[in-house]
Amino acid sequence: MSSGADFKVTLLGTGTPIPVPGRFGPCTLIEAGQQKILIDAGRGGTIRLYQLGVPIGVIEALLLTHFHSDHTVGIPDLWLTGWLNSHFGTRAKPLRVIGPCGARTLMRNLEKAYAADIKIRVEDEKLPAAGVAVEVEEFGTDGVVHEKNGVRVVAFEVDHGDVIKPAYGYRIEYGGRAVVISGDTRYNDNVVKYGAGADLLIHEVAIVRPELASVPHIQRIMAHHTTAREAGSIFERAQPKLAAFTHIVFLASDQIPPATVDELIEETRQTYAGPLEVGEDLMSFEVGEKVRVSRPGDKEM
Ligand SMILES: [Zn+2]
Ligand SMILES: [Zn+2]
Repeated sequence: MSSGADFKVTLLGTGTPIPVPGRFGPCTLIEAGQQKILIDAGRGGTIRLYQLGVPIGVIEALLLTHFHSDHTVGIPDLWLTGWLNSHFGTRAKPLRVIGPCGARTLMRNLEKAYAADIKIRVEDEKLPAAGVAVEVEEFGTDGVVHEKNGVRVVAFEVDHGDVIKPAYGYRIEYGGRAVVISGDTRYNDNVVKYGAGADLLIHEVAIVRPELASVPHIQRIMAHHTTAREAGSIFERAQPKLAAFTHIVFLASDQIPPATVDELIEETRQTYAGPLEVGEDLMSFEVGEKVRVSRPGDKEM
């Protein structure tokens, strides 16, 4: 079996709407065979690609989980900067966007918003019109949303709250291995169903200190996410080779600081004893017979 170098996942952004420099917005790079796929385009994903030496224009497809802005604000950057005629861009064919119903409206409206820039650059820089075109594929139920050269992506519905619909997670399969990413969700059985036995199960999580737990707007946020104990239960039921957290919602206030990574681990350990990583921006996973983790400290930031 493979060492895993042909199937790699890199967390480009492990954060939330909070604009902290250490955790950019939700964005995950999947490299499977020759294909490079992004899941969500949060703030700063293009900067992380640049740090990895991956030209923005080589992204084969962008998969969207849902329409909260922290997952989509990086789309214009990915789309338009990736089109520029420089070593970091150079997309000459359409950007493929795959997402739940609503993705087409989002992209068509972005095309309207940036129409002046597109017109200017075609005329002035002679950039190819094909490189700024967008091909959108929408889906409305669980199922295969991408299949090419041995890479298969299955979307599955999750539960991000009663009015935050649609919301999906993804299972990516390549060479007999599987990586599952929960998307934004509360505790949800579908993550267990699609994540069962995965090599790598990446889950969102939210944590707040007890002093803040009764504040109404904190309660509302917590009700849209999965607590560490709940995520531990998901991992315990799904039994992945490795479990990892991304989209880490560290809630805090002026007076009450956020929980620490150690506290997040301690909470998760109440329900799960297996292999666990707390994601950091640029942490990567080579998914082979074993899942090999590289930390951002190993790379030049
Ligand atoms: Zn989010
Ligand atoms: Zn969300």
